[in-house]
Amino acid sequence: MNYPLELTVMLYHYVRDRGDDAEAGSGIPGMSVRAFEAQLDELSKQHTFTTWPDVRAALQEGKPIPSSACLLTFDDGVIDHYVNVFKILRDRHISGLFFVMNRCEREGLILAHKIHFLLARLGLTGLREAIWEKLNSEQRERFTQAEKRYQLKYPPVSLDNRINLLKAVLQRDLSLEADPLLRSLFEIHIGSENGAAQKYYLNSEQIREMAAGGMHFGGHSQNHPWFDWIDAETRASEIKASAEWLQQIEPGPWAFAYPYGGLSEDSPKLLKNQGFVAAFTTKTQLRHSDPYFIGRLDGEEFAQDGQGYA
Ligand SMILES: [Zn+2]
Repeated sequence: MNYPLELTVMLYHYVRDRGDDAEAGSGIPGMSVRAFEAQLDELSKQHTFTTWPDVRAALQEGKPIPSSACLLTFDDGVIDHYVNVFKILRDRHISGLFFVMNRCEREGLILAHKIHFLLARLGLTGLREAIWEKLNSEQRERFTQAEKRYQLKYPPVSLDNRINLLKAVLQRDLSLEADPLLRSLFEIHIGSENGAAQKYYLNSEQIREMAAGGMHFGGHSQNHPWFDWIDAETRASEIKASAEWLQQIEPGPWAFAYPYGGLSEDSPKLLKNQGFVAAFTTKTQLRHSDPYFIGRLDGEEFAQDGQGYA
């Protein structure tokens, strides 16, 4: 491959409308279906949609792809990708690359998604208070220290920044205690977390149907941790879990997407050992000089009505 590779990679998470089968009354907003389709219309004017196998052939064998090539990627294996995205892509003969966590149905929601549900139900202030109440003094101390540190990155001048600040504290410094704590808050304020997770994530039947319909799948770890926060052993086991899961879905070599876009220097080597030949970040970038750090554009940020419901 002659680097840099020119490739526009779009990144999507939730694609849903209020009250549809994906939003399902959760109150969690996303990019609206209309905005998603409008963006595909726009992209198709300037780009040629490409597929994961074509990108892989470009990376591995140096096969040319058009410089206007665009790859659509979707993170987190949420049900939106089956109920809303899949049909739209299939009708347009576009193939998407879906990064899915290999979660057993018993494992519940990843921490990030528990936070989304609880934020929608309790609001930011309510959620922060509910968490604070359950922390002991040592945990409160760590919470406060972490919050101070992340305020440099997320000055609390906007609601978005204040939400990102709480997320950073919970998903990093307090990730071990946050998981069971939010699980218990979920049961109190929303209901069965496992029941919610079963409807929230793609199941194996839907994944099979999507694969048969021309979609491709990649790894996104098992527990969705920040890779720069966990140790090398945990990174290796998270990547291995993805490879084992993908073996049942489609032949490799595969692609990986870093959870939260979190990076660590040893990831390329760990990924390579497990049969991954490319990895995608959340860094905005259109020319890529390393197959393990391919940048992406966040589709929702470019959408006309970015907030979906707004
Ligand atoms: Zn993710």
